[in-house]
Amino acid sequence: MCSALTNARDASAHHAQSSDLYTRGLKVMPQGISRATVDLDPVPIYVERGEGAYLVDVDNNRLLDLNNNFTTLIHGHAFEPVAEVVATLLRKGTCFSNPTAHEIALADLLTSRIPAIEKVRFVNSGTEAVMFAIKAARAFTGKSTIVRFAGAYHGAYDWAEAGQSGVYRSNIAARAVAKLGYRGAPRSIGDDVIVLDFNDKNQITTTLSVQSERIAAILIDPMPSRAGLFTPKAEFLDVLTTFARDHGILLIADEVLNLRQDYTGASARYGLAPDLIATGKIIGGGFPIGAIGGRAEVMSVFENRDGELPVPQGGTFSANPVSMAAGLVAMQEMTKEAFTKLEALGDRVRTGLTEISERHDAAYTVTGAASLFRIHPKRVRPTDYRSSIMSSEEATCARNMTRYFHHNGVLLPFGAAASLSTPMMETDIDRIISIFDDFLHTAESRKDRP
Ligand code: PMP
Repeated sequence: MCSALTNARDASAHHAQSSDLYTRGLKVMPQGISRATVDLDPVPIYVERGEGAYLVDVDNNRLLDLNNNFTTLIHGHAFEPVAEVVATLLRKGTCFSNPTAHEIALADLLTSRIPAIEKVRFVNSGTEAVMFAIKAARAFTGKSTIVRFAGAYHGAYDWAEAGQSGVYRSNIAARAVAKLGYRGAPRSIGDDVIVLDFNDKNQITTTLSVQSERIAAILIDPMPSRAGLFTPKAEFLDVLTTFARDHGILLIADEVLNLRQDYTGASARYGLAPDLIATGKIIGGGFPIGAIGGRAEVMSVFENRDGELPVPQGGTFSANPVSMAAGLVAMQEMTKEAFTKLEALGDRVRTGLTEISERHDAAYTVTGAASLFRIHPKRVRPTDYRSSIMSSEEATCARNMTRYFHHNGVLLPFGAAASLSTPMMETDIDRIISIFDDFLHTAESRKDRP
């Protein structure tokens, strides 16, 4: 059993300023915060500033940041080349109704690097990118149903959200809500979304064959982070691709998070050739961004063509010069060598953590790839969403681990992918591994189930 950590520092002593801010926040915002993903244990940690691989909170705690704004900050905080270009732009105007050359430069970079992106449009978030990719697929195919995979997170567009979590919960009410995506979702959404299990090739042919005529697209994150950050099986991707091609169904790869896996993106890494890619996060250099890219023929649904209405895609801040220029610099600095360096650090952390767990004979396993990793409180390494769902006992273990890391100066996301950034060094990785070692020692000596 994992009981609460007894050596936890007194929260109020080390988070006095954060606690005060939280009290103020609670008076003016539902739950005191502006995004459901903020970790509230013990209180939200309010940030004062970021410095490379670290952030400093309002109580002057310095923390190695493995969250990186949910994997966005591939260069860590306050990356100097981005700061420089943005500082210049701030004095030249930050948003216009007109286009600027900055958007073409970022489009040039993406179309030249990512094989599946022939044309691209910019928006302000990953949610929007997925939403417009779905709209494009529907317009192109003339069909409306979306297939997606259990446990994967694709942002907050209704049809991308349905069936997002809790599908395997026994509670019937929770299951009904999960099917729709969130409390208050229109019931009709459930009719146009099919949720399958990732890595299960048989489900593609058995479940989809009978309804292929109404399916516009299959939405797939090549390595869904929330679902467990497990590797896609090559055979599964092959079956999926063949089925889609045979039935006039488009493949939409959600690479909002996983574009950071490789110079050419995650789909190319795993041999997937999608018709559309939705991306975001790292391509904005720390500023709001999303992008829909894909085959020119499919992307032409956004164009004014004779006799056909385009899919309307606007956005007051879409392609604003700050996000475009910051993203360009950040991506230019992500050379092939920079990806290779991050991959080596990722290998070091995944191997190191796994070895420590084995040495302790502990029930922890590690998944991930490139600059991403996730520590599961599970003896058997998850290979799909079902096997990665935490029991309440396992969730307590994971919570203890996150707390232990935090008490030792490392921000490890709970239930999500941890990510590395270019300012990190081998010494940072070794520190992560050593804290994990200490955590398992502590858990053992307290006769916890490690
Ligand atoms: N898709 C994936 C795979 C994501 O990880 C996220 C964000 N975590 C989104 C879509 C939504 O992106 P955003 O938060 O920028 O709207």
